[in-house]
Parts: sequence; structure tokens; C-alpha cells
Amino acid sequence: MKQAENHKSSYFIDLEHHFGAHNYHPLPVVLEKAEGIYMWDVEGKKYLDFLSAYSAVNQGHCHPRIVKALVNQASKLTLTSRAFHNNLLGEYEKYITQYFGYDKVLPMNTGVEGGETAIKLARRWGYAVKGIPENEAHILFVEGNFWGRTMAAISSSNDPSSYAGFGPYMPGFSLIPYNNLQALETALQANQNIAAFMFEPIQGEAGVVVPEDGYLKGVRNLCNKYNVLMIADEVQTGLCRTGKMLACDHENVKPDLLILGKALSGAILPVSAVLGSDQVMLTIKPGEHGSTYGGNPLACAVAMEALAVLKDEKLAENATEMGSIFRARMNALMAKSPLVTDVRGKGLLNAIVIKPFANGKTAYDVCLQLKENGLLAKQTHGDIIRFAPPLVINEAQIQTACDIIEQTVLSLQN
Ligand code: PLP
Repeated sequence: MKQAENHKSSYFIDLEHHFGAHNYHPLPVVLEKAEGIYMWDVEGKKYLDFLSAYSAVNQGHCHPRIVKALVNQASKLTLTSRAFHNNLLGEYEKYITQYFGYDKVLPMNTGVEGGETAIKLARRWGYAVKGIPENEAHILFVEGNFWGRTMAAISSSNDPSSYAGFGPYMPGFSLIPYNNLQALETALQANQNIAAFMFEPIQGEAGVVVPEDGYLKGVRNLCNKYNVLMIADEVQTGLCRTGKMLACDHENVKPDLLILGKALSGAILPVSAVLGSDQVMLTIKPGEHGSTYGGNPLACAVAMEALAVLKDEKLAENATEMGSIFRARMNALMAKSPLVTDVRGKGLLNAIVIKPFANGKTAYDVCLQLKENGLLAKQTHGDIIRFAPPLVINEAQIQTACDIIEQTVLSLQN
């Protein structure tokens, strides 16, 4: 490490290129420290973080309370595996189930493991409770979904860059259009072996696609009507990101299975969870599912503090307020710039859509220029830029960010 101290960005980028698999295409910036909403690169340049590690950094980078919880626990007990009990898991399970109003939690690590767990629970519930014939359980997903990179996740994807070249795929999955209750009802009517409908209340990776008001309630009603589990993937939308604790709270809807991840640890380490009722959770018996690190005491200590910070700092309310300022400024920009063709989002999960430039430049070039101007954001699907800063951002900071975005877009259109 000592040797690397004086190296510049290109050195670290070359190292990654040489020794790491090429499964990402990051912006050419090498970060070495962060605090709150800011990040610094190895040259000492300061940036506003407008990605938040895909909505994991809701509480702000290196939140002192969460870091303290980490450090305190790290010197006492970090991992026992589930072969033994530990003195934090039960406390955490009580805390998180009461926090969200569920009977039980199943702790995992990454978001995609949360999705896998929810699907296993749904299939098992389908056989044990709903009475679906063995190996016939079916899970419905929506087009444009993104829940990770495992074989099950890509088997339910309609994005070729996720699934192409990795077959054969997991059977028992099918896709219907998002934001379409009629399509959901038709699918539910057509197949009695559907155990669950899994979806994001706002699609993050698809480009911040917000369904019409009433969609979440409609999904809840249809799942009740056809005795199908409603699985909400709130890995990206949950934990105050959209201006409510959960995006489902916008329509006062409670999913049967709730998947959380990312900000559940305040961006300190991978922590995910699936929450549900006894009727669903208790269908999985000892030895039938688990993870070496799932529910480890370090994660439990960190997650309890991360959840406490969300409420203590009123981050949902702040996301609502700062989000409306942000969208108002972006709508004003859209009125001025023909390059911006849409502004959408809720709370602090927002996106603008960029029209292809006459000079061949794309949303990626906008992100490169934003980086030069001191703001980090990343395009998705070539033409959409997501803006999702840490939820601790204040009004002066959001105005500064909007100034940067406005100047950047206006300068590029000429
Ligand atoms: N679900 C959603 C909605 C996501 O956006 C993501 C990641 O971006 C995941 C699941 C997967 O989470 P992870 O990358 O921690 O596996």
C-alpha cells in the first residue's frame, strides 16, 4: 500500500484492467475517501456523489454513528456462522421485524441473495400452503426488472446484456409488462400454479421507471384475489430513498415478502434481508437455506444503527423535500434544453432522459463532463442518467448540484 500512495488515477485503472475481470465499465475516476455526500479522488479532487453506490449510501458516506457501531463490534465478535447462536442476531431480528411490522426475518448478505431467498420461500409456500403440485410452482416477474446477476436473476431478465450467452435458464419464470394491472390479472387467471409476483415498486436499473398511482394497490388486490404472494424488491427503493421508509408506503401497501439490501448497512458491508409472515417463513426448515455470513453479529450491529439513523435523521422527509427541489430544477432545465426529454422519479431517486446528440455524444459523455465539473453520476441503458445522492444532502448542496448539471447539459448541447 505504501508504494501506491503517490500513484495517480491511471495507475489504479491500469491495475484493475490488468488483473481484474472486465465485467464493469466504470467512469475513469479513482476514489480514495468519502464523507457525507462528498467523495475525493486520488488526485484530491472533490465530487458530489449523485449515485450513492446505486442507492446504498442513503445515510451518507462513513456515517460516524454507523462506523462506530462497526468498530465497536469488530473488536468483539464478527462471525460465528449459524452453527452457533450469537448475542446480536436475536436483538437484530426483533429490531428489524418490529421496525417494519413483520413476524420474521431471514438475514442474507447481498441484494440478489435476498431475491433468491424470497423466490425459494415463495416456491416452498406454493407447495406447502397453496397446494401447487410438486415442481410446478411459477413466479411472475415484470419486463425491465433488475435484481442482480445470479442464474435465477438473469433467467427472469429480458435484458440481453444480462442473460445472453449464459443459458440454460431457470424454468418456472415468466414476464409480463410493468405498470399493467390487466396483464397481471390475465397472467394470474391463466395459471393456477403461480406462487408469487415479484417486482420493484419503482424500477431502478430500468431507468427510474415510476408506475402510475394505484399500481401498487392494484397489485396487492390482485395478489389477494388469486392467492399469490406479493414480493416487493425494495433493495433500491427502500429505506427512505423515495421519500417514504418503503416505496410501497406511498400507497399504504404491505407486501407479503419484502426484500431489503444496500442501505440496510448504511453502505458499510453487504447486508440484506427478507421479511415475511410466520405462515411463509416457517415453511423453510433447519438446513434448507442459509449463508455463512448471513446474520453475522457485525452485520447485525451495523444494520440496527443504520436503520436507527434513517429515522433519527428524518431521511424520508428530507428525501421528499430535496427531491421536489431537484425535479423542479430539472424540469426547468428540460424547458431550456432540447437534449433533456424527460425528468422522472420520486424522493431522491430521479433520472433524466437524454436525447442522442447530433454530434454522436451520449449520456455517457454527459456523465464524463459532469465528473469534470465535480459531480459523479452514471448513465443506464445509454440514454438515461440516474441522480440518487445520499439522503443527508441539504438544500444548498442540491442547488449546487443542479447548477452543475444545468451548466454541463447546456454547454454540451452547443
Ligand atoms: N434488487 C434491486 C432492485 C437492485 O437494484 C439490485 C442492485 O442494483 C439488486 C436487487 C441486487 O443487489 P446486489 O447487487 O447487492 O446483489
